[in-house]
Amino acid sequence: MYCRNCGKELNENADYCTHCGVATTKGNSYCGVCGSETNENADICVSCGTNLRKQPKEAKSKIVAGLLGIFLGAFGIHRFYLGYTTIAVIQLV
Ligand SMILES: [Zn+2]
Ligand SMILES: [Zn+2]
Repeated sequence: MYCRNCGKELNENADYCTHCGVATTKGNSYCGVCGSETNENADICVSCGTNLRKQPKEAKSKIVAGLLGIFLGAFGIHRFYLGYTTIAVIQLV
């Protein structure tokens, strides 16, 4: 991934940028996925389509994230059935 403050390439699990010291979840000047410069007010990266508002920590482990996605996805569908549509919609978004 890339620092969202200075755009330097970082270790996938780094919590802080080793170049500028800013937390990897902070800043919005560069895309955390492809490293392209982005507008600070942009919601998505125009180069790769990544949601810049999303916390990059979610992608720490693709396997864990995938498993969590399956569990949370099933959980979300359960909530739909139970009528908790608001919570389910938040989870899906
Ligand atoms: Zn940095
Ligand atoms: Zn990007």
